[in-house]
Amino acid sequence: MSQKSNIKVLGAGISGLTAAINLAKSGYNVEVFEKRADCGQRFHGDMQGIENWTKKNDVIQELKEMNIETNFDCTPFSNVTVTNTKIDEKFDFDRPLFYLVKRGDSQNSLDQGLKKQALSAGVKIYFNSIFKPDEADIVATGPNPARLTVADKGIIFKTKMANTAIAIVNDEFAHKGYSYLLVVDGYACLCSCVFNETETLTDCFNKTKTYFVKKYNLEITNAKSVGGVGYFTINNVWQKEKSRYVGEAAGLQDFLAGFGMRTAFRSGYLAAKSIIDNCNYSDLVEKEYRKYLKAGIVNRYLWEHIKIGDHLRTIKGISILFHSVNNLRSAYNFNLGQRFKYRKAFDYIDKKYSTRIT
Ligand SMILES: Cc1cc2nc3c(=O)[nH]c(=O)nc-3n(C[C@H](O)[C@H](O)[C@H](O)COP(=O)(O)OP(=O)(O)OC[C@H]3O[C@@H](n4cnc5c(N)ncnc54)[C@H](O)[C@@H]3O)c2cc1C
Repeated sequence: MSQKSNIKVLGAGISGLTAAINLAKSGYNVEVFEKRADCGQRFHGDMQGIENWTKKNDVIQELKEMNIETNFDCTPFSNVTVTNTKIDEKFDFDRPLFYLVKRGDSQNSLDQGLKKQALSAGVKIYFNSIFKPDEADIVATGPNPARLTVADKGIIFKTKMANTAIAIVNDEFAHKGYSYLLVVDGYACLCSCVFNETETLTDCFNKTKTYFVKKYNLEITNAKSVGGVGYFTINNVWQKEKSRYVGEAAGLQDFLAGFGMRTAFRSGYLAAKSIIDNCNYSDLVEKEYRKYLKAGIVNRYLWEHIKIGDHLRTIKGISILFHSVNNLRSAYNFNLGQRFKYRKAFDYIDKKYSTRIT
């Protein structure tokens, strides 16, 4: 492929724009087709964390190395509270555990920051535009509507509460998932995130809200709804004919926690690299993510087998594991224990998550 080839990208989210920025900077003519009217409109002001625990290098450094600037609001969090609603465990990590960003089309959102970087690199973005995925060089369309496995419901509102990150692990508040309250500079995001059994979502969210309001004397006025759905698969397809699948469109997310932004950036970068260096995208992404994905399957299996109501033990276990961010990384290395459990975990997840649930 010559340096001036035209590249078509479907979807102007994290993975699509990361690919587009890198290709445009390498001299390609890049066109991005986005079905919504602007970047970020899949979300509505949700706060999301770019995780910083699965790799040795800091994710902000990794973004720089992938030619992505942090020209969006991005707040590091090293202090996190995890609770089962009866006992709180506070963790003070040796480096940021995650960086909180805003998703949506507001001025300082991650999505608008990426849009600015793409436009200044010369990428053409066509809004309200779609075409067939098999005509795209890169498919970056986010969740596959036929296979949704996680759902999140929440609100954003203004608050006087200081910056904080609190997670609840308790099935009554978030079925097989977690609930959370995040506050950055007076902006709060309170959500419940459930896996598979989405009919529990409203009830879980209401319980979560009641808990946080009571415990922290929260005043909630003028709240706006946020949330959405997510997609995972254990049978990832990285490429069909010329179309490379990136980010959530490839089912590339952490099966345990539903974090997919870091992998979206990275897979977008790898797709661009495969075009620039004329090498095989599937090989690049398999090499980088196969162990991570397998570990995620086992982690989710284990999480779902914690006895209901036994979250106290879970939190104690977490506190042993959570001394440092580096310790957490071993949970994504597909370690010996995970290999031992993998077959059983795969069969369980395959059966449970192979059907459409919405
Ligand atoms: C409520 C919620 C909370 C989350 N919290 C976190 C978190 O804290 N940390 C984390 O790491 N991850 C989180 N995630 C997951 C994270 O949002 C995704 O993993 C990430 O956005 C995936 O990036 P992407 O580039 O694959 O897709 P996106 O960034 O979603 O971009 C996909 C784009 O493609 C467009 N599109 C879709 N279909 C078409 C089409 N046919 N044609 C053209 N364009 C199309 C969409 O409009 C969108 O702009 C959360 C997800 C949800 C729903």
